[in-house]
Amino acid sequence: MSEPRRELPPGYQEQLDLGYVFGGLSTFAQRPFVPHAAQLAEWKPDVAVMGAPFDLGTTNRPGARFGPRAVRTQAYEPGTFHLDLGIEIFENLEVVDAGDAFCPHGRVEQSLDNVKAKVAEIVNLGITPIVIGGDHTITWPSATAVAEKYGFGKVGMVHFDAHADTADTIDGNLASHGTPMRRLIESGAISPHNFVQVGLRGYWPGQDVWDWMAAQGMKWHMMDEVHHRGLDAVMTDAIAEAMNGVDYLYVSVDIDSLDPAYAPGTGTPEPGGLTSADLLRALRRLALETPLVAFDVMEVSPPYDHSDCTVNVAHRLIMEVLAGLAWKKSR
Ligand code: MN
Ligand code: MN
Repeated sequence: MSEPRRELPPGYQEQLDLGYVFGGLSTFAQRPFVPHAAQLAEWKPDVAVMGAPFDLGTTNRPGARFGPRAVRTQAYEPGTFHLDLGIEIFENLEVVDAGDAFCPHGRVEQSLDNVKAKVAEIVNLGITPIVIGGDHTITWPSATAVAEKYGFGKVGMVHFDAHADTADTIDGNLASHGTPMRRLIESGAISPHNFVQVGLRGYWPGQDVWDWMAAQGMKWHMMDEVHHRGLDAVMTDAIAEAMNGVDYLYVSVDIDSLDPAYAPGTGTPEPGGLTSADLLRALRRLALETPLVAFDVMEVSPPYDHSDCTVNVAHRLIMEVLAGLAWKKSR
């Protein structure tokens, strides 16, 4: 096992060790800031967290561009020992913050290209990217970069969302937060047979889109099924479906998969969703039981948050994945 701790310059270490998140540097979980590909290549972390502050694909309330900064600066961080797994996360897993992809305002194509390039920089070094959005449009370039590394059709997808995000276009827009999963299937980046959606509910999309999804061979588990069977039982099926014939897994979380009671700070809230207790454990299982190679948390919109509820749960979803990866690496 490689040594997870790296030497930092004294002043830098001092700043990170201040022990609070309400001042000082703002990196994810006070991890070292390693923003350049050459630095990442030298550092060789297991995981690099990055931000994608882009919300030009939103159809309703905007504000997800403030997600990455809020998760870094506003989440309550009491410690790094995972109580259920009994593990010091960062003593077993080297995690850095690689900074943000540049998302210039009004420049959709350039922003998405920059996200793809930054995820590629990380994943091509064999490092696991964790992307904080940003709206869900971001999963299109992010998962494309991951598929380019591991092979088109070789990466399964577990996608938690209230919405299928498989529209052809929305208002004529191919690059909307309602269309990324359609783009990934059309391009062949992710095979529809390994594309599994969990938590879908509400009133969108319409029958034509469900017909398209079924014709592709996509898999989904509606919130109604989760309600009746429980998320743990559903996850056992979802993992088997996503991993059938592939060796890698991408996990994408739209924070609106959670009930708005747990995650009010999002653009398209849909009542009747997952509980945070359930989703945290589902992500822990995914990290522990699957060859997870990339993870994203999308649609956190801090301006609509209350008491940092949404920011804190987004932060903890990432911590669950990190804890699971740390536990796996420590065995
Ligand atoms: Mn959604
Ligand atoms: Mn979504």
